[in-house]
Amino acid sequence: MAAYALTRAGARVVMLEAGPAWYASKNSQMLTPAYATPMRGRATHTRPFGEFDACDGGWEIDGEPYTKAGNTKFDWWRGRMLGGRTNHWGRISLRFGPEDFRGKTRDGLGDDWPIGYQDLAPFYDQVDDLIGVFGSKEGIHNEPDGKFLPPPKPRCYELLVKKASDNLKITCIPSRLSILTTAKPGRQACHYCGQCNRGCQVKANFSSPDVLIAPALATGRLTLLTNSMAREVTIGPDGLATGVQYIDKESGEDRHVAAKIVVLAASAFESARLLLNSKSSLFPQGLANSSGVVGKYITDTTGSDVSGFIPSMIDHVPHNEDGVGGMHVYMPWWLDNKKLDFPRGYHIEVYGGLGQPGYGFMGGIQRYPGKGGYGAKLKEAYRRYYGATIGFSGRGEQIPNDQCYTEIDPNVVDKFGIPVLRFHWEWSDHELNQVKHMQETFRALIHEMGGTPFSPMPTKEQGYGIAAGGRIIHELGGVRMGSDPKSSALNGNCQAHDVKNLFVADGGPFVTQANKNPTWTILALSWRTADYIAQQRKQGAL
Ligand SMILES: Cc1cc2nc3c(=O)[nH]c(=O)nc-3n(C[C@H](O)[C@H](O)[C@H](O)COP(=O)(O)OP(=O)(O)OC[C@H]3O[C@@H](n4cnc5c(N)ncnc54)[C@H](O)[C@@H]3O)c2cc1C
Ligand code: SF4
Repeated sequence: MAAYALTRAGARVVMLEAGPAWYASKNSQMLTPAYATPMRGRATHTRPFGEFDACDGGWEIDGEPYTKAGNTKFDWWRGRMLGGRTNHWGRISLRFGPEDFRGKTRDGLGDDWPIGYQDLAPFYDQVDDLIGVFGSKEGIHNEPDGKFLPPPKPRCYELLVKKASDNLKITCIPSRLSILTTAKPGRQACHYCGQCNRGCQVKANFSSPDVLIAPALATGRLTLLTNSMAREVTIGPDGLATGVQYIDKESGEDRHVAAKIVVLAASAFESARLLLNSKSSLFPQGLANSSGVVGKYITDTTGSDVSGFIPSMIDHVPHNEDGVGGMHVYMPWWLDNKKLDFPRGYHIEVYGGLGQPGYGFMGGIQRYPGKGGYGAKLKEAYRRYYGATIGFSGRGEQIPNDQCYTEIDPNVVDKFGIPVLRFHWEWSDHELNQVKHMQETFRALIHEMGGTPFSPMPTKEQGYGIAAGGRIIHELGGVRMGSDPKSSALNGNCQAHDVKNLFVADGGPFVTQANKNPTWTILALSWRTADYIAQQRKQGAL
C-alpha cells in the first residue's frame, strides 16, 4: 500500500521483496480440482494450508529459523513471495472501532493509541473504494460500517447458524470480506468458485500484487527487486537513514540501495528484527530504539475452535451452495464486559457447507454415525454426511503484557548470516477466561442447532483450547507508536521518534489488538503514512 500511494504521489520507490514475483491473475490454481493431482490438495512443507494455497512460506522456512525461550509456545508464520500473506489471507476486512483506539481509557489495561478512529476513517473509506469490500450497514457503535458492496446471501447452513444465534441473542450479520460482488475496472465480480485462498485469477478478491503493486509498477516509478532480503537499515553520520543493505538471493551478493526515506513493511516482527539488527555507534540498541520498546508489546489474536455434527443437515436435498471463499455471516462482539470475567471481546467466524472435497475431507468419516466402512457403504456414508458439519472459530483481543516480547538471539543466525528473533510468550488470565467463554458459546450454538460437538470441552490445564501464540497469524506491535518517545518507537504518523526519515507501514506500529482481523487497519494506516510522507516532502520537512 505504501508503494501504491507513494508512486501515485510522484515519488520514485524501490521495493525490496524477499520472495519471488507472484500474481494470482497469472499463477493461481483457482480452478484445478483436488482430484486432479496425486496429492488431492494435501498440505505440503511450504504450503501448510494445502497444495493449491496461494502462499509460499509457512511456520518453518528452510535456513531461516527463529528461536523460542524456555518452554515458550509460539509459532511464527512468514510469507516469502510478492504480496506476502495477502495472497491467501481470509479477506475478513473489518475496521477497528472508536473504542479500539482507547483501551486504557476504557478499562485501564494496555495503552491508548496516539490517534483515534476519526484519524483513520477517511483512509478506511479510500481503502474500501479502491479495493472493495462487501457488507451491510448495521450502525453498531464499535463495528463501523464501511462503503460496502452488496453482501452475498447466507447459504443453508448459515441460515441455521443465524436462527440459533437469534435464539441465543448473539448478533449475527452479513460478513465483511474484500471480495467484489460487483465488478471494478480491470477486475471481475466474484463467480462464487469458493477458492479464494488459492488466489483469484479474475482479481475479484484482494491480493496486493494484482491490486496495488501492478498499478504502482504501471506508473513507471516503482522499481521492484524480488529475491532481495533486507538485512539492516544504514545510517549516515547525521543519524538519518541512508538506505537498506540487502542480500541478492540469486547471486548471494550483499548490496546496498540508497534512499532519502526508508519505509519498513516486512510484517510486524520482521520489521522489529530489522531495526534491532541495525546497530551502530549512534544507535547501539538498534535503530529507533532509544526507548528500548522495539520487540516489546507484541500480540496475536486469541483463537479457539469447536466443530460439530448437525443431524438436521444429513441427507440434504442437493442444491447450489456456491459462494465466496469465506463465510457469508459472522458474529461481531455482542456482550457487555461489566457482566464478564474478562476484558474486551471476540468475534465468531463460521465454517461448514459443501466445499470442494479434497485430502482430509470432513475431518475423518470415523467421527460420524456408522463410522464409515468400506466400498459402497463408505461412499454412501460420505454422501449422507457431506455438509452436516458446522464449525465456529473465536478471534479475540489479547492485552499486551510484559511476558510477550521478542529479541535478537545472540547465538543463532539464518542462512544469510542475519541474526534471528527469539520469542517469549505467555497468555494471561484475560485471554484464558475469554477463550473459555468462546468454547462455552460455540458448544451452546451447536446444541441449539440440535447437534453434538466433535470434541469435549477443554480443561483449564489445556488452556481451554487456546491456540498457541502466533497461530492466528495476526502479529502486531513490536514497533509501537505513541506520543511519548520514552515509551514508543514511532509517533502517530508511524515516523521513528529517533530518525525522522524512517517509517513503519505494517502491523508493527499497532498499540493494541482489537477483536477485529487487522489487515484493513494496516492498509488504512499505511496509506495515511504514505500521504504524510508526501506532504512532508512537499513542505521540505523531509
Ligand atoms: C491463512 C491466513 C489467513 C489470514 N486471514 C486474515 C483475514 O481474514 N483478515 C485479516 O485482516 N488478516 C488475515 N491474515 C493476516 C494478514 O495476512 C496480514 O495481517 C497481512 O498480510 C499483513 O501484511 P504485511 O504486509 O504486514 O505482512 P506480509 O503480508 O507478511 O508481507 C510481508 C512481506 O515482506 C517480505 N519480507 C519479509 N521479510 C523481508 C526482508 N527481510 N526483506 C525483504 N522482504 C521481506 C515478505 O516476503 C512479504 O512479501 C491472515 C493470514 C494468514 C496467513
Ligand atoms: S470465490 Fe470469487 S473471489 Fe474467491 S477465487 Fe472464486 S471468483 Fe475469485
